[in-house]
Amino acid sequence: MEDEADKVTGGCLCGAVRYEAEVYLKTAHYCHCRMRQRSSGAPAEIGVTVKPGSLVFTKDEPKYYQSSPFGRRGFCPHCGSRLIWDAPSRPEWTNLCIGTLDHPEDVVPSQHICVDSQLPWYQLDDGLPRSRSDEDPELKAAWLNTSY
Ligand SMILES: [Zn+2]
Repeated sequence: MEDEADKVTGGCLCGAVRYEAEVYLKTAHYCHCRMRQRSSGAPAEIGVTVKPGSLVFTKDEPKYYQSSPFGRRGFCPHCGSRLIWDAPSRPEWTNLCIGTLDHPEDVVPSQHICVDSQLPWYQLDDGLPRSRSDEDPELKAAWLNTSY
């Protein structure tokens, strides 16, 4: 990671689940993949990467839905807010949904990923780097290593 991790706090809509973590605020990414669209109900989701080992749930814990052979999505079991995506075998991929941060205004998006499923009417003229899902060698390898 290019920048230092910053301490953040956050939680779900109803307040049942709360967390503290160190995240890389300046390397947040828009993800346009279909799973994130379906899971969030939004045209894209912005995730901020968590420094491995720094995430602590300070109040209750999310429930997880295993959305792919290697990744899962955590949500509040009471209000349904999506909080986190993680891959237990790749802790460095863990990212929090930035809308759940107490101060999402501190996030600085740095790229768009999975733009192959970006909705045609959802245009952000921000000049940030863009990549297709098949252009990420690590993600591609994770899929190839599954039994799918
Ligand atoms: Zn909640």
